[in-house]
Amino acid sequence: MSILSAKNIQKHYGELKVLDGIDFQLDAAKICAIVGPSGAGKSTLLHILGTLDQADFGELYFNGEDISQLKGSKLSSFRNNAIGFIFQFHNLLPEFTAEENILIPAYISKKEEKESMQRAQELMKILGIEARAQHKPGQLSGGEQQRVAVARALMNNPSIVFADEPSGNLDSKNAEELHSLFLKLRDELGQAFVIVTHNKELAAISDERHEMKDGKLARLD
Ligand code: ADP
Ligand code: ADP
Repeated sequence: MSILSAKNIQKHYGELKVLDGIDFQLDAAKICAIVGPSGAGKSTLLHILGTLDQADFGELYFNGEDISQLKGSKLSSFRNNAIGFIFQFHNLLPEFTAEENILIPAYISKKEEKESMQRAQELMKILGIEARAQHKPGQLSGGEQQRVAVARALMNNPSIVFADEPSGNLDSKNAEELHSLFLKLRDELGQAFVIVTHNKELAAISDERHEMKDGKLARLD
């Protein structure tokens, strides 16, 4: 069964029809790339699939459960535990160390501190940033900052990580390293990803590719 399933998702901004009946399914341990021209509605779709935004119409199921009507604290709790987000710009808190930034989702969920520290250590090790734990974002390279953001997204062991142009702000070497880490996280942790990207290499290594165009999503290849 798919972990995420969307049916006939529609979204308008005023007169502008951005999403015109999108169907989408995601299986566990898969990397799914969404490509398409700027302004096509990729970010809008990503935000709706990740429950950051609401569709005007359509259905959204997580492990078979209808999540399209979740609101308030139930929605926040679902989002904080089931879903991780990575953005083009890392959005780390500048006054906190790498480790503290990574721990933020665990604080929000009031997770047990010792277990959270262990999880943070484990993630920093997988992502090769354990030597940077006590550095603040401003003391880290762009690639390291993005890996801290990846660790933060993974902190609460989410079922799905949504990423919006995750390598859009990285040079090619750091982008390649980040893409390899996505494959490693898929293979070692069974992590599923939905990734909006203009990066051809990232689209190529993904398990499946979909193109947003004229409000519709089409499976490529
Ligand atoms: P993409 O990610 O493919 O570049 P977006 O989803 O960001 O596309 O935007 C799709 C279209 O919707 C664009 O025309 C954009 O200007 C418009 N749009 C996105 N968010 C809003 C909003 N909050 N209000 C009004 N228009 C929006
Ligand atoms: P991206 O670069 O990821 O495609 P954008 O820069 O298009 O995202 O949009 C960033 C945010 O600004 C979006 O989350 C969207 O809600 C908002 N936004 C985008 N276009 C518009 C618009 N035309 N009017 C109002 N808000 C917008």
